[in-house]
Amino acid sequence: MKKDFVMPKSKSYYLDGLRGKIEKCKKCALHLSRNNIVFGEGSSDARLLFIGEAPGADEDMQARPFIGRSGQLLTKIINAMGLKREDVYIANILKCRPPGNRDPHPHEVEECIHYLFMQLDIIAPEMIVVLGRVAGITFFGKNFSITKERGRTLEFRGIPVIPTFHPAYLLMNPKAKKLTWDDMKKVLAELNLPVPSTVAGK
Ligand code: URA
Repeated sequence: MKKDFVMPKSKSYYLDGLRGKIEKCKKCALHLSRNNIVFGEGSSDARLLFIGEAPGADEDMQARPFIGRSGQLLTKIINAMGLKREDVYIANILKCRPPGNRDPHPHEVEECIHYLFMQLDIIAPEMIVVLGRVAGITFFGKNFSITKERGRTLEFRGIPVIPTFHPAYLLMNPKAKKLTWDDMKKVLAELNLPVPSTVAGK
C-alpha cells in the first residue's frame, strides 16, 4: 500500500512545542514570582550552545536570556569570536528567575533540567560552553570546580563541553577575561572556525 509522505517537522517546531509546555510549568515555586519564562534563543541549527545559570531581573522582564550587564559581556565575547548571537544558541539551567538572583535550589534544578536536556536533544549542537560554577556542577556533579576545569574539554552525552567563567564573574574579575578568551579560542579550534585576533571584552 502506498504510504502518505509525512513532512519531517523542523527543530523550531519542536522547540516551540517545548516552549509552550514550559510556559505552563508550575513544578516549582518560581512560577509564582516569574514575569516570564526565559526559554532560550538563537539558531535552532546552532553548532555552539552556551549554558548559563538562571534568568536575572532584566531577563525575567524581557523573556530573553543574557540581556543584562553580564549578557552584554557574553555578547561581546561571542562577537569577538567572529560570531553573532543569532549564530549560536543561549539557554539557562533554570527557565524562571530565582528571587533576588539567589543561586538555584537543588530541587528547582531537578524539576527544570530536563527541559534543557530536551533543548540539547532537539538542537544537537556540536559543542557546549558551560558558563560558571552552577552550570558546571549541574552537568558534572558537586565536585566540579570552575577554576580547575575551565578550558578543559569534558563531555556530556557524547557532546564536547568546555566550561569557562560566568560573565558575571568576569565583570567582577576583569583579569580573568584573558583566560575565558583562551577557552573561547579552544572552542573555535574544536569547531574548525577561524580565531580572530581581538581580545574578548576589551
Ligand atoms: N545570568 C545567567 O546565568 N543567565 C542569564 O540569562 C542572565 C544572567
